[in-house]
Amino acid sequence: MEFNNELYKKIEALAAEVGFETAPLDPSILEADPRVRDMCAENKCRRYNASWSCPPACGSLENLEKRMKKYSSGILLGTIIPVKSRTDVQAWKTGEDSHKDHFDTLVRQIRTFDKDIMPLAAGSCTRCAKCTYPDSPCRFPDKLYPSMEACGLFVSRICKQCGMTYNNGPGTITYFSCILF
Ligand code: SF4
Repeated sequence: MEFNNELYKKIEALAAEVGFETAPLDPSILEADPRVRDMCAENKCRRYNASWSCPPACGSLENLEKRMKKYSSGILLGTIIPVKSRTDVQAWKTGEDSHKDHFDTLVRQIRTFDKDIMPLAAGSCTRCAKCTYPDSPCRFPDKLYPSMEACGLFVSRICKQCGMTYNNGPGTITYFSCILF
């Protein structure tokens, strides 16, 4: 499958308007690595088995990898957030919310001309104060995306492969998402 440069340029322009750093992402490099799922299962983030966007609810690695490999093209999206220190929790949270809001905006814009996309989010879904999992269905199924980690992706490795800087130095935190099309 050939990378769709024309569509990439269109999406890249929209992503830049929204405020993302961008890089082309060839989905053929994406490998669903079970070691990432093992890290999810350690549950340091307390989202394992607690959200529709995370394992095990998001589905098997095999199925997610099959879905990722259906696409010929993709875009990696980054947001660099200034933080005062590693413990500047408020800046981390504000930065994450801002990255996720921008991601929603971009997904909505792309879906006006391409319904068949696969958005992969930065971490677990944090849209609702309390996730409905596992008692009732997700409140916003159109905005429910698996995280890159849930898909078994080492984000740092993908950044390197795509030529994007993963760690932008002390005083910053960078959030990453991607969209396959
Ligand atoms: S949108 Fe709400 S219900 Fe759905 S996965 Fe996110 S937090 Fe859970």
